[in-house]
Amino acid sequence: MNYDLIIIGAGPAGLSFALSLRDSGLKVAVIEQLSREELADPSEDGRDIALTHLSRRLMQQHGSWQRIGDDNISPIVRAEVVDGDSPYALHFDKPESERDGLGFLVANYRIRKAIFEEFETLGEAFTLLADTRVQRVHSDEGAARVELESGETLEAALVVAADTRFSQSRRQMGIAADTVEFGRSAIVCEMEHELDHRNTAFECFHYGRTLAILPMPGPVSSIVVTAPADQVDAIVGMDPEDFARDIEERLRHRLGTMKLISKRHVYPLVAVHARRFQARRFALIGDAAVGMHPVTAHGFNLGLSGQDLLASELLQAAQSGGDIADPARLRRYQRRHMLSTRPLYHGTNAIVGLFTDDDFPVTLARKAVLRLSNHLPPVKWAIRHQLMAKQHLSSLLPI
Ligand SMILES: Cc1cc2nc3c(=O)[nH]c(=O)nc-3n(C[C@H](O)[C@H](O)[C@H](O)COP(=O)(O)OP(=O)(O)OC[C@H]3O[C@@H](n4cnc5c(N)ncnc54)[C@H](O)[C@@H]3O)c2cc1C
Repeated sequence: MNYDLIIIGAGPAGLSFALSLRDSGLKVAVIEQLSREELADPSEDGRDIALTHLSRRLMQQHGSWQRIGDDNISPIVRAEVVDGDSPYALHFDKPESERDGLGFLVANYRIRKAIFEEFETLGEAFTLLADTRVQRVHSDEGAARVELESGETLEAALVVAADTRFSQSRRQMGIAADTVEFGRSAIVCEMEHELDHRNTAFECFHYGRTLAILPMPGPVSSIVVTAPADQVDAIVGMDPEDFARDIEERLRHRLGTMKLISKRHVYPLVAVHARRFQARRFALIGDAAVGMHPVTAHGFNLGLSGQDLLASELLQAAQSGGDIADPARLRRYQRRHMLSTRPLYHGTNAIVGLFTDDDFPVTLARKAVLRLSNHLPPVKWAIRHQLMAKQHLSSLLPI
C-alpha cells in the first residue's frame, strides 16, 4: 500500500481533516487538482463565512484560527430577519453572559490560506499531491484505489473524499444523493457604508429577492443577493452606483450611503445531501457529504464538525492498532453526522422555499412564522443554540 489514507480535495474540509489527524501516526496523501501556489495564496472569491462557536473551537485546536488574525475576524452580536416592507423583525441577540458574539465572520480566502499554512507545518507523514486530478476511485476487501489522470494508481486502506458538492468519487462509489436546484443564484460582494453596522447581520426578504448583510471588520459588510437565475446577468451588469442605490433602498438606508468595493461573484444555488456517508473503504466529508444552501451559512460549519467526527473514529482505530476502514466505525461516523445534517438540510430547504416564494398564501405564512418564532422561546433558543453550541449534537446523545 502507498498510504494508510488518501484524502481527495485540499479544500477547507479536506485540509482540516488532515490537521485533525496530525498526531495519528498515519501516512496520509492529499490529492488536489489545483496548484500549490493557488492553495497557498487563494484569490478572493467574495464568500464571507459565518462560523459557529464549535467551528472556532475546532479551528483553534488545529492551530488554523490563530493564523487568521483578530483584525480579520468580525463577531456577529445580533441578527435580524425582516420580511418585505413590514417593519416587523425576528431578532436574535447574543446572551448577556456570552463574552463573544452569536458567531464569527471571516472571508473564505483567509480561512483557506490559514488552513493551508497550518497544513504546511505537518510532518513528512503528510504528502500533498497538487496539480493532480483523480480520475476514478474503487475499492475491494483489501484496499481502496485511486486512479490519477496521469495513469498512475495509488492504494490506501481508506479513501476520504472532500471533492466538492458535485463529488465525482461519490458517484463512482455508488452513493446516491438528494439534490435540489433552486433555479436561483447568489451574487456576493463587499460594500463600504457610512453608518456603523453594530455587528448586526440582516436577512431581508424582498419580492423575488433575498438580501443578506453580514458585518465584516470596519465599515464594511458582505452582501449576498439571491435572485432568480434569469435576473442575475442584469444585476451583475448594473452600474456600481445604481447597484449601491438599489441595495441602500432594499436595506431601507439602515447603513446610510453605500459603495461597492469588490467584484460581484455569482454562485448558482444547488444543495446536496448524500444518502450515505460511507462505502467499502471509503467515506465522504465536507460538501461532498452535505452541500448546504449558502443562505443557511452552515456548509463549512458542517464540514468542520463532520471531519472531526470521522477523525475521532480514525484516531481511536489507529491508537488501538485496528483497521481505520472498519465498517462499524465508518457507520458510526455516518450515524453521528446524519443526526445533525439531515434535519438541518431538509428544514432549511423548506424554510428557503417559504422565504423565496412571493405568492400570497406563502407571504402570509412567512409573516406568521416570523411572529411565532419571536414569541416562541424554544424556536429562538434552537436557532441560537445551533450557532453557539460548542460541542457536537451527537455527543449529547448515547450513539
Ligand atoms: C456564497 C457562499 C456563501 C457561503 N457561506 C457560508 C457560511 O456563511 N458558512 C458556512 O459554514 N459555509 C458557507 N458556505 C459554504 C462553504 O463555502 C463550503 O461548505 C466549503 O467551502 C466546502 O469546502 P469543501 O472543502 O468541502 O469543498 P470545496 O471548497 O469545494 O473543495 C473541494 C476541493 O476538491 C478539489 N477537487 C475536486 N475534484 C477533484 C478531483 N477529481 N481531483 C482532485 N481534486 C479535486 C477541488 O479543486 C477543491 O479544491 C458558502 C458557500 C457559498 C457559495
